[in-house]
Amino acid sequence: MSLSHHGVLFLDELPEFKRNVLEVLRQPLEDGGVTISRAVTSLSYPARFMLTAAMNPCPCGFFGDPVNECTCTPPKIQKYRSRISGPLLDRIDLHLEVPRVKYKELASQETGERSEVIRKRVNKARIIQQKRFQGRKGIFCNAHMEAKEIKEFCKIGEESQDLIKLAITQLGLSARAYDRILKVSRTIADLEEKPDIEPAHVSEAIGYRSLDRTLWM
Ligand SMILES: [Zn+2]
Repeated sequence: MSLSHHGVLFLDELPEFKRNVLEVLRQPLEDGGVTISRAVTSLSYPARFMLTAAMNPCPCGFFGDPVNECTCTPPKIQKYRSRISGPLLDRIDLHLEVPRVKYKELASQETGERSEVIRKRVNKARIIQQKRFQGRKGIFCNAHMEAKEIKEFCKIGEESQDLIKLAITQLGLSARAYDRILKVSRTIADLEEKPDIEPAHVSEAIGYRSLDRTLWM
């Protein structure tokens, strides 16, 4: 596998994994590598992957559902959600809530945007990013940016800064989540082929941190 390509790791029912197993993911998510230490030696392996995970809102699965009533007690919900630690959550760029699809919508003939159109847009954004990081070792896309690159390529205006400030004070986001928002904003701008990050891109990126809000209140 070439370094420029991600493997995808999909974890279904994320809170069902043992917490120590989930915490082990933090190092490779951050550095793209794993270090295995034994008494005599320590080995480092490359481990760059894209983590995708799914979870229910509560143990019974119906919290927030408009049709079925959730039967979980608040402490039970809290216990279930707290299996995902804040530091692990910080390292997940996009959080999406997927509510029940109504039968009417499911049966409707209207179709969304075609996958091949989306694919073209994504490929274009990847090319923009490859050009941006040309000649920089180990950086192929926005996700790989570190502090130095974020400073260079994720400049935002005053209005955008205010948006993030507000999100931090209201959602209690960490510094790491702050960097994630900047990187995701950069990617949203790339998908629109915009050279500058605009306030709309930043506010969309903040919207992808919904779990910071719902899991830790
Ligand atoms: Zn429930």
